[in-house]
Amino acid sequence: MPLTPLAFSPTENARYKARLTTRQRELTSRLSAIEADFEQPRNPDADDRALERSNDEVLDKLGVSGQDELRAIDAALDRLRKGIYGTCAKCGAPIDTARLDALPQTPFCHACAHSL
Ligand SMILES: [Zn+2]
Repeated sequence: MPLTPLAFSPTENARYKARLTTRQRELTSRLSAIEADFEQPRNPDADDRALERSNDEVLDKLGVSGQDELRAIDAALDRLRKGIYGTCAKCGAPIDTARLDALPQTPFCHACAHSL
């Protein structure tokens, strides 16, 4: 199988890698803050418990989307290591740099992301 040509120069790859690892660090610390909050003792007062529950749901959603994003970032860093970062995981076409700048962890080109 022929090697997929590098979509980006090493400089560009390094730039995306820096962005991805920065975001990875942000998410990791945000997620551990969310976990720490979950571990707080529950409020024994019933009125506050209802409020806490809805807060927990918000925290839970944040946690889930954060974990999804972290997984996507891990996968993107893996593609960077393999030299296939910036090519669509579905059709193999190069992904727009504008798209990667907005969403550096995306594995799909614009067309494929919208046809999933
Ligand atoms: Zn595609």
